[in-house]
This record gives sequence, structure tokens and C-alpha cells, in this order.
Amino acid sequence: MKFVDEFREPELISKAAEEIRHLAGTERHYCMMEVCGGHTHAIYRFGLKDILPENIELIHGPGCPVCVLPMGRIDDGLSIAQDENVIFAAFGDMMRVPGTLGSPLEHKARGMDVRIVYSPSDALKLARLNPEKHVMFFAIGFETTAPSTALTLMRAKAEGIRNFSVFCNHVTIIPAIRAILDSPDMRLDAFIGPGHVSTVIGCRPYEWIAKNAGKPIVISGFEPLDILQSVVMLLHQLKKGEAKVENQYKRVVPWEGNPAALRAMNEVFELRPYFEWRGLGFISQSALRLRDSYAQWDAEQRFSVPGIRVTDPKAAQCGEVLKGVLKPHQCKLFGRECTPERPVGALMVSSEGSCAAYFNYEHRKAMVTGLTSIA
Ligand code: SF4
Repeated sequence: MKFVDEFREPELISKAAEEIRHLAGTERHYCMMEVCGGHTHAIYRFGLKDILPENIELIHGPGCPVCVLPMGRIDDGLSIAQDENVIFAAFGDMMRVPGTLGSPLEHKARGMDVRIVYSPSDALKLARLNPEKHVMFFAIGFETTAPSTALTLMRAKAEGIRNFSVFCNHVTIIPAIRAILDSPDMRLDAFIGPGHVSTVIGCRPYEWIAKNAGKPIVISGFEPLDILQSVVMLLHQLKKGEAKVENQYKRVVPWEGNPAALRAMNEVFELRPYFEWRGLGFISQSALRLRDSYAQWDAEQRFSVPGIRVTDPKAAQCGEVLKGVLKPHQCKLFGRECTPERPVGALMVSSEGSCAAYFNYEHRKAMVTGLTSIA
């Protein structure tokens, strides 16, 4: 199959759902975590939860980069841009993420020079066009987006562009999965592995999950049939008592990843000793920073950064939702104080955030159909 339509074909989806029902039986409960926010979005968008049997529980993982960024990092980035000579450049996803004194968009409304860019190289272009200003790119994302930041920094260095820097918040997926497996309140049988990240890192880094934690993992695509096929593959493994890494998304993910992208990352970045994740706390070697050879383009070295640590509002239960301990609608603020229009937590901002996905599909559906309780 090559085209999107084929992965949304109702007849094939019905067959896959039937196979899942058959394999799952009724005697046990299965908890599967979809690591990637893109999967969470697709599961709600296509109503996949409704066609899975009740004994298959999908738990939303930490794979939405906006959602795992602690508020203090947003405050730190915005504090640098208080300088009127600095342009704060970031992806559109970041613009409504709340910091202590408001989101980047709210700071823009108060006069800060905040620009939306579609890529790091757009931010570099901005630096070329505004030589009298300093452009700081607020970089977020997993290994999916880190290579394009790395290539942009390599270009900035090669061209000797000095009025450009990166405030680096790139994180890595494997330590986060490890932290989730170490969490005492976590009860998982298997993982639907992240498709986008794996195009860069490949499948091999997940092998320890299968070997050491004894959990099957299937790297999955994002169409309905991809996700259902991945569930089928996981059920086959679980029923046979196996735990191995499989690649459902072979049409996009090479087993060894993308060596050129990995080389670029290795040239520019090194691992931080530790980094704070929203909801998961400090995780060692889970994020990237610029190597000393790129210090001139490192916003954290060029500017004074307050290193603000901020706890989320007390009633916000983003941490529990991020770890899959609570469902989005079980947060006390969900749908009342916290909505996509007025988000309190980051999980309600990005379309890949589990609260936003749940609100936009399940919650609205419940409101339309007049259901009062949603599971
Ligand atoms: S509803 Fe809002 S505050 Fe509650 S977990 Fe979701 S994003 Fe966080």
C-alpha cells in the first residue's frame, strides 16, 4: 500500500478491528502506551478508541514536545527576549504555551518582538534580514526536529552569522521511556513506538525495552490502519509471551535510522547531564545542549538565563495525565478552567497534546450527542 486512502479503507479497518477482538479475547486487560503525540491525535481524530475492545486500554505517552517542556524554560526563553534588541523566534505550536507571565503571544501583545517561524532556517533568514537585531530561536522537539536545528547551526557557523542563537530544549525519547518504565504507578504491557522520531534514530535504540524490560514495542505509522496493525502485532507478541522490537512503519522508518541526520546532531549537540521534564521530573541524559564548538550560537551561554523553576498550578494534573495515570477528562480543570481557547497546561495547547486531542474529539462529541459522562 502506498497511498493515504488505503490506510483509511473502512473494510480493511473493520477486518483489523475484528482480528484485534479475536486476539484480545476477554480474559485479560492490555495496557498499551502510544508514545507519540501524533498517535494520540490520530486515535481520537479517527475514533479508534471506539472500535477497540474494552480490554485494550491505550495510554497516552510523553511524545508531545510542547507538553513536556517545563514552564520555567518558557520563562527563561522569554526573559532573554525582554531585551529589545532580541527577536524571539519559535514554531507556531509554542506561541500559546503559558509561561508564568503569559504565553509568547501574550508577550507579543505587550510589545515583545515575537515571530512565528516554520523552520530553524527561517529563523536564520530572519537574522540575515535584521543584522542590527539578535534572533534567538527557541528550539523544541525530539530527535525528529533536532537535525534541522543542527544543520541550521552548522550553516550559521559556516557563514559566520553572529546575530543568531538557539535556546535549545531538544529532548531525547529513550530516557523518557525508561523513566516511565521506572515509575512505580506505571502498569504497561507494551508500547506503540513513535514513528517520526524513529525515522532519525531507527529501531535499534528500542531493543533494550524489549530485552531488559520485557515489553514488546512496535514502531507505528499514523494512519488508522497503521495503528490497528501495530495493535495486532503487539497482541501476537503478548499472546506468545514474546518481547521484541518490530517495525510496522517500514515504508518510512529504516531500521538503522538516518545516518546523515545523526551525524549532524552529533556534530552540534551533546547530552545534558540532566533535564527537567514536565510531569516526569529530572531525567538524566535526556536532553541536548550545544557543544562548546557552537558556544557562540548558544543562547544559554550568550545571555544571562535566570534558570527559573516553576511548579504547575496546584489543581492542574498535567503530570498524572502525561504519565498516563489519569485520563485527560479526569483532571479537575479539564473543560472548565482549562480549554484549548484558554489553556492552563501545555497538554491543552498543541494538537498533539492528549488534553487538546481529547477535548477536540471526545469532549465535543459527548457535548453534541448529549452524553453526560465520557470514559
Ligand atoms: S486539563 Fe489542562 S491542567 Fe488539566 S491536565 Fe490537561 S492541560 Fe493540564
